Amino acid sequence: MKRAVFLDRDGTMIVDVGYLRRIDDIAFFPWTVDAVRALNRAGFAVVVVTNQSGIARGFIAESAVEAVHAEMSRTLAAGGAAVDAYYYCPHHPTKGTVAAYARACECRKPGPGLVERAARDLQLDPAQSFVVGDTWLDVGLARAVGARGLLVRTGADRTIEAKAPPGLTADAVVDNLAAAASWILIHS
Ligand SMILES: [Mg+2]
Ligand SMILES: [Zn+2]
Repeated sequence: MKRAVFLDRDGTMIVDVGYLRRIDDIAFFPWTVDAVRALNRAGFAVVVVTNQSGIARGFIAESAVEAVHAEMSRTLAAGGAAVDAYYYCPHHPTKGTVAAYARACECRKPGPGLVERAARDLQLDPAQSFVVGDTWLDVGLARAVGARGLLVRTGADRTIEAKAPPGLTADAVVDNLAAAASWILIHS
């Protein structure tokens, strides 16, 4: 079984613009391609896990999410980097307007569903893996699946670091995904 780095998308790989649905609005952080390539070369599976409740809320079509991921992969490939797979949660437990997705689920982070699905599909070992994200939901996901969790300071909420939920601590809090990749390479 393979080690993986599970990456949050918005606020971690690309700027969190809120309910991203146009590929023209994708803004990679300047270090993202290099960081992903470094993880590829170190032998990690790189898997995106993202909550996209905009689908349940009726703001984003699933086809738009797929198009965003395809465009992200093109940009990564141009820099010699690759994401192995993208997994998203389309649900929201209380604010959905699209009937099929307006429900509680196992896959909305910090629920373990997305990582469990990826682990089955790609033969990954979460216990040897890492989760990187800009919110405590991402760190909570790491705890839920027995991975190590890193918080990055590139999200929409720059005060997030001070708002840890009771009992939850990150394995590392770092400035950005480049620093997270370095930390992972040192600590794996
Ligand atoms: Mg995020
Ligand atoms: Zn879900």
